[in-house]
Amino acid sequence: MYEFELKRPRNMTDALQALAAEDAQILGGGQTLIPTMKARLSMTETLVALSGIEDIKGVCRDDAGRVCIGGGTTHAAVARACADSYPALASLAGRIGDPAVRTRGTIGGSLANNDPSACWPAAALASGATVVTHLRKIAAEDYFQGMFATALDDAEIITEVCFPVPVRAAYEKFIQPASRFPLVAVFVAQFDDAVRVAVTGAAADGVFRWTAAETALTTQFAPGALDGVALPDAGDMLSDLHGDGSYRAHLVGVMTRRAVVSAGGQ
Ligand SMILES: Cc1cc2nc3c(=O)[nH]c(=O)nc-3n(C[C@H](O)[C@H](O)[C@H](O)COP(=O)(O)OP(=O)(O)OC[C@H]3O[C@@H](n4cnc5c(N)ncnc54)[C@H](O)[C@@H]3O)c2cc1C
Repeated sequence: MYEFELKRPRNMTDALQALAAEDAQILGGGQTLIPTMKARLSMTETLVALSGIEDIKGVCRDDAGRVCIGGGTTHAAVARACADSYPALASLAGRIGDPAVRTRGTIGGSLANNDPSACWPAAALASGATVVTHLRKIAAEDYFQGMFATALDDAEIITEVCFPVPVRAAYEKFIQPASRFPLVAVFVAQFDDAVRVAVTGAAADGVFRWTAAETALTTQFAPGALDGVALPDAGDMLSDLHGDGSYRAHLVGVMTRRAVVSAGGQ
């Protein structure tokens, strides 16, 4: 690990001031950034920790009934706070990594990192969430821009993520046991007018919506509705030592069916 300075602001004003320094970087829960720094794959002169800023932690409902989660809220806190308001989010958060990861890692850090196998991007895209930063609001559709790429600018802080609440939803994750990240995972959300299906872990470009499945499930919310629906193209899927593209494409179908059943589709 290279030498660095750690700043611990207690409010957004001080955080933004600290981030104005050249080569300063946001530190969320450190569950991705610190291992990267330890491996000397990342070097920064100043880390600005968000963990002391209470304003960007916690879960509430806004006037539109959306569940809004502060960017600095840990996965463990979401798992506790969303059990009644949006159970599928609580379930997703409660299965990220292990207790140590969930106690430190944050929703803002996960969405900023946009790992192609991360869980939160699937929930955000399937729910039609809005990513709120200290500068603007970004629709999930516009936010995810490929593997580890997002619409965020440098030093732009995710302060909140707002999720419309579906009628029913579920997240099904096929775990890669060594890392506990999903090999493939699917979030299915049924709203009054349509079903949305978002897939993570599978594609080289990161999270994506499986629109053919959405059309079929909007007509009939049942696993059988997916019979005959073409799977995503295996050539667009990730291929590595854990599974090739056709295996991952197959898993997309399997996990989507499981998510529909978990959400109550018959
Ligand atoms: C063993 C292990 C297992 C894991 N398993 C899973 C899993 O199953 N599913 C899953 O989804 N993830 C998993 N993770 C990753 C975990 O969810 C991390 O919490 C997450 O990827 C990063 O969040 P963080 O708060 O720790 O961010 P950090 O590591 O602190 O930061 C990550 C990046 O985000 C930026 N950043 C942090 N917070 C903000 C913010 N509020 N606004 C803007 N930028 C910000 C940082 O500058 C950095 O670039 C795992 C991690 C480990 C170590």
